[in-house]
Amino acid sequence: MEKFVYDFKEGDKSMKELLGGKGANLSEMILMGLPVPQGFVVTTKACDFYYKNKKELGENIKKQIFEKMVELQKQMNKQFGDKDNPLLVSVRSGAAVSMPGMMDTILNLGLNDETVKGIALKTGNERFAYDSYRRFIQMFGDVVMNVKHEFFEEILQRIKNEKNIRNDTELNVKDLKKIVELYKELIKLKTKRIFPNDVFEQLEMAIDAVFGSWNNNRAITYRRLNNISGLLGTAVNVQAMVFGNMGDDSGTGVCFTRNPSTGENKFYGEFLMNAQGEDVVAGIRTPKEIRELNKILPDSYRELIEIREKLEKHYKDMQDIEFTIEKGRLYILQTRNGKRTAQAAVKIAVDMVEEDLITKEEAILKIEPESLDQLLHEQIDLSAKSNAEILTKGLPASPGAAVGKIVFNVEDAKERVEAGERVILARIETSPEDIEGMDAAQGILTTRGGMTSHAAVVARGMGKCCVVGCSELVIREKDKIIEVNGGRFGEDSIISLDGSSGEVFAGKLDLVEPKLGCNFEKLMQWTDEIRKLKVRTNADTPADAKTAIKFGAEGIGLCRTEHMFFEADRIKIVREMILSENEQGRREALNKILPMQKSDFYELFKIMDKRPVTIRFLDPPLHEFLPKEQKEIEEISEEMDIENKIIKKKIGELHEFNPMLGHRGCRLAITYPEISEMQSRAVFEAVSQIIKEGKTIILEIMIPLVGNVEEFKNQKEIVKKIAEEVKSEKKVDFKYKIGTMIEVPRGAITADEIAKEAEFFSFGTNDLTQMCCGFSRDDSNKFLKEYIKLGIYKRDPFQVLDRKGVGELMKIAINKARLVRKNIKLGICGEHGGEPSSVEFCHHIGLDYVSCSPFRIPIAKLAAAQAVIKEKNKKIKENHEKLIKDVVLGIQNKFGHLIPKEELEKEVKEIINIERLK
Ligand code: PEP
Ligand code: MG
Repeated sequence: MEKFVYDFKEGDKSMKELLGGKGANLSEMILMGLPVPQGFVVTTKACDFYYKNKKELGENIKKQIFEKMVELQKQMNKQFGDKDNPLLVSVRSGAAVSMPGMMDTILNLGLNDETVKGIALKTGNERFAYDSYRRFIQMFGDVVMNVKHEFFEEILQRIKNEKNIRNDTELNVKDLKKIVELYKELIKLKTKRIFPNDVFEQLEMAIDAVFGSWNNNRAITYRRLNNISGLLGTAVNVQAMVFGNMGDDSGTGVCFTRNPSTGENKFYGEFLMNAQGEDVVAGIRTPKEIRELNKILPDSYRELIEIREKLEKHYKDMQDIEFTIEKGRLYILQTRNGKRTAQAAVKIAVDMVEEDLITKEEAILKIEPESLDQLLHEQIDLSAKSNAEILTKGLPASPGAAVGKIVFNVEDAKERVEAGERVILARIETSPEDIEGMDAAQGILTTRGGMTSHAAVVARGMGKCCVVGCSELVIREKDKIIEVNGGRFGEDSIISLDGSSGEVFAGKLDLVEPKLGCNFEKLMQWTDEIRKLKVRTNADTPADAKTAIKFGAEGIGLCRTEHMFFEADRIKIVREMILSENEQGRREALNKILPMQKSDFYELFKIMDKRPVTIRFLDPPLHEFLPKEQKEIEEISEEMDIENKIIKKKIGELHEFNPMLGHRGCRLAITYPEISEMQSRAVFEAVSQIIKEGKTIILEIMIPLVGNVEEFKNQKEIVKKIAEEVKSEKKVDFKYKIGTMIEVPRGAITADEIAKEAEFFSFGTNDLTQMCCGFSRDDSNKFLKEYIKLGIYKRDPFQVLDRKGVGELMKIAINKARLVRKNIKLGICGEHGGEPSSVEFCHHIGLDYVSCSPFRIPIAKLAAAQAVIKEKNKKIKENHEKLIKDVVLGIQNKFGHLIPKEELEKEVKEIINIERLK
């Protein structure tokens, strides 16, 4: 018969998946000899069974629960439901991954009209007994029988009003007995059911409710927001109650072994005397600082300090501990790795290495790469967030926070910023014309677009907070109004954006400054020692490049040259080029661009000194550069001295139904070779100047959107020709590599042909995802949200690399390319290059580098180091498991099967400790 219920004594901390985090840690603490009230765990497998069995526990599980209850009675020397010596239990949820407050908990279970008398008699404290009883009915009524909490509160308040008292503690036994009766009547009225007096019925109903809470809205949303998937369900912990509300020598509290906000190595926490857990959480009474406990119950405090040290040494991590003191006796009710700010995470990890508690590798694994974001940008103060009005949630396109008045166009943004105001630019979507507004604004908000939309890519490059794809928002740009869920916000409304979560709030929220510090530097140094992947940056401007170097960039993996044309005076020239009737017109426009581009490259090369720089040739979908408004068309027509209607006709001709699959990338330069000629000249003239100044640059020229080797050859020829021309004109010699992006599926599949010609590949996984999945980069957000909710895709493939599809194409390309060019240099420059799980994948498939926006460099470095350590640990674990199997087999071969295999395995495992193998 399958085992669904485990005694705490049967588990340990390695059994989180089965027993849930709480159950596994309670078991571990019992193994460590800590004072933990006895109990048992109904496993996550039971939860899985419950859902598969039409939400019924079934006879087998019920029987196992009953048996464990009998054992618990023996251990505690009390009887469940006995009127003289009753056993009370708590029933608490606990999944493998901590989901604080998302599921249900019931305390004091086992109380009924009879047992309450027994508790009163045993404790000699009738008030305590009836107070516990009314709390239990309230909790049970709310959590199990679905009677709203406020109905109970109304009754409690009514009695307090009648007696003209303020605090619950002033209620006497008679009042509490009356409340108990009123509560029971309330339950009967609301549910047409009688509050159960049978304690086993109570237990069954409670376990049922906790399993049911696994799929309440709160828990589902929490899992979605935290990307928690693949779990069986929650476990249920049934544990003998201990009471913190038994008088002035009792109490309850929560503490952290170190400060979870700063990371300081100082015991931190709070407690309440004569109280139960929910009193601390409810915030009705103000808890005391943990050190105060030393004055009230010095023995318990001393013991707690000892346990703090033991637990931290044992778990090698900062612990979040719940405790209760019953009549001067300390009990530990929970321990888990404490949640912490990024600043605290870095400090704790570095301190623990210096205290010889953990290794550098362990320290690196302790930090969530994404959390480093908090350190690099201003953030919304967490405490401000909890009271704020959230308007909607979009995609977290670029991290950080922004607070400001809403502006709806570039002019207003510039004007108001010049007048000293802080603004947020709200647009349906952005285009290159918005660049100055984006630059002026604190943050950018769009209703359309995904993680690789124009707004997202540009904002990330700028390190500016940006939330995109807020499909619930209606932005009426002309009327300068935002409408969302019934609310309206105009030009003078202030809103706050959280670019790390995608949340949009009404009003001004407080921000906190980013902090880096020496701990951060140390951590980065350790990641540099360990990782194999190089980390480059996507940078288009000298400012980007400088920021990237500050964060430790090892080169530029992608310079999107079209981004160099976004400034107002340059965009006009690009338009001139695009709208020219003939080659001569285009060449004239390009000649104007040449010196600008050359000086940009020169600046970039100077900053990147000796580091590799990959210049990607022009790749804009043309629509990004076309004028849209009548005013702009008029300006262009005047500047180019061409009639308005001719310009309009040309715009009409250039209109594409599918611009992302249209006249862009190398297709543009193949049809207009003069573009590549100009760009090659600009690059090589800049390089010549750098060389003449005695500096070095490692130059890589990258051709975009190649799907056919002939496209690449066409462009390579132009680049080579201009290189030779510049060499002879400038009388300098320089080296460069020419390669391509792999971002068209055909390019990946024919990578062997392309690699014969190309010296390096950089995976453009934004386009590769678009074309592999067939999802528009700009419009997919509309349905992808639903897809993710339904589990069709687990994560947005534009954010987290789709290993099964896009990843397979990458592997095909790598394998084929290496067949013809063994040492071909391989990188990635799509947005995935800064996303931790995608970076891990890039490590596994053997890329040489990842390239990401400047502010994601530390995240990518940490993820790259973690990938090495995880790989190493996985190998150690596999070897360890193999060794155990071999030893067990050896013993069995030599001595037969005297000891059952599982037992033998357990023994051998203990002898061959994995820690020693590391
Ligand atoms: C890509 O497609 O992944 C890429 C880096 O190019 P872009 O985003 O500029 O199209
Ligand atoms: Mg691309």
